[in-house]
Amino acid sequence: MAIHAPEGTRDLLPDEALFWERFKRTAAEVFGRYGYVPIDTPIIELTELFVRGIGEATDVVGKEMFTAISGANLAMLLDGGTIKGKSRLSLRPEGTAGVVRAVVQHDLVPQGAPPAKLMYAGPMFRAERPQRGRQRQFNQVGIECLGADDPTVDAEAIIMLMRFYDAMGMPADAMRLLVNSMGCETCRPAYRDAVRAYMEQHADALCDDCHRRIDTNPLRAFDCKNEGCAAVMADAPKITDHLCEDCQAHYQQVKALLDGAGLSYIEDPALVRGLDYYTRTVFEVQVDNGKRSQSAIGGGGRYDKLAEEVGGRPTPGFGFALGYERTMLALQEVGVAFPQVCRCDVFVACVDEAARDRAFAVVQSLRDAGVRSDMDHQQRSLKSQFKLADKLGVRFVVVLGPDELAAGKALVRDMGAHTETPVRLDGLACEMQALISR
Ligand code: AMP
Repeated sequence: MAIHAPEGTRDLLPDEALFWERFKRTAAEVFGRYGYVPIDTPIIELTELFVRGIGEATDVVGKEMFTAISGANLAMLLDGGTIKGKSRLSLRPEGTAGVVRAVVQHDLVPQGAPPAKLMYAGPMFRAERPQRGRQRQFNQVGIECLGADDPTVDAEAIIMLMRFYDAMGMPADAMRLLVNSMGCETCRPAYRDAVRAYMEQHADALCDDCHRRIDTNPLRAFDCKNEGCAAVMADAPKITDHLCEDCQAHYQQVKALLDGAGLSYIEDPALVRGLDYYTRTVFEVQVDNGKRSQSAIGGGGRYDKLAEEVGGRPTPGFGFALGYERTMLALQEVGVAFPQVCRCDVFVACVDEAARDRAFAVVQSLRDAGVRSDMDHQQRSLKSQFKLADKLGVRFVVVLGPDELAAGKALVRDMGAHTETPVRLDGLACEMQALISR
């Protein structure tokens, strides 16, 4: 039986792979205008990074990580006890922890330095139950800004993300922007206790998972998909009523900057996002796709304690990630299609076998001159070479026949205009460059 790609993964075939390239290029172009530069960190990290950074009680770390023990094989695992000294490695479930680890490890934000503005793109891995828009391997583009806690960082990043969606052709009215503040270490513990007390009062109406969350991570109950839990949590205490003065002021300033930029947003006090590291601003961009659990196309927030969690000095940070696949599905819903792939501009056809070697040399010289060109590799007749050229969508076919070659020429057929012009072979590359750029 033919082998298939693993469940929850997708092949990006050429049309889509080109779209993904455009997606990353657009992100780099938009984010570059705000001073962001690329960083590329490993896809595998020590498991401990995610446990310490994201938190063991989160779904992402507690249930969804692909973890292996380096150098250990199954027999050793079954044997037990023989894996001492081996490190536990996990495929990254998100990008922030790795980037913050790299910033700390390489001291990218020394004392007094301006903030590091970093962007990344690549695959993330979560062992979730696969469904449309929810995969085990998916692609994200994200940014992290480390070294400043000013509300301007939060606001400009949110504005920048909305500009990116706009640049990709996503209409503003097809999305909603939700914002909230999660408070800080001063105000959140008391808020968490208030939610815990509230949940204890309503314990009978909560699912088993939320029962456990009362002790481990009560705020996560806001994300529960169970309808009973959602009804209970709708009346839970609101973080915005429990923010300390500094967090309140920070949140007000972020909102004022968004207002000033003319961005519309919804304040959602139940937006807590799935990871432990967030402090203060959190936000999410959602679309209506009938699936509440897959409606988020991007989101992020502030994480002022994460650098310390991974062993660095206090370094405030803000970041977001957008899911490529979900954004792509949302773009398709509004009619943005993958552009048709045009592999090359020129096809070099040979009239007979004798011209094949010349065709090989001509196509090389065109490529060396920067002209995207191709030839037949299957000994086709001239007629089927033309059919192939048509299928490839080339604009010009260069025909090499015995008469033309004897005169040091080729016949250039314009496939759109249906005209044929003899061109000298020694000037062919220049002529083709000129024709293509016309
Ligand atoms: P998160 O790190 O969970 O905030 O995810 C950021 C973005 O990545 C989300 O808004 C989604 O668009 C996307 N995403 C998260 N998990 C998945 C998944 N399992 N499959 C596809 N996209 C995902």
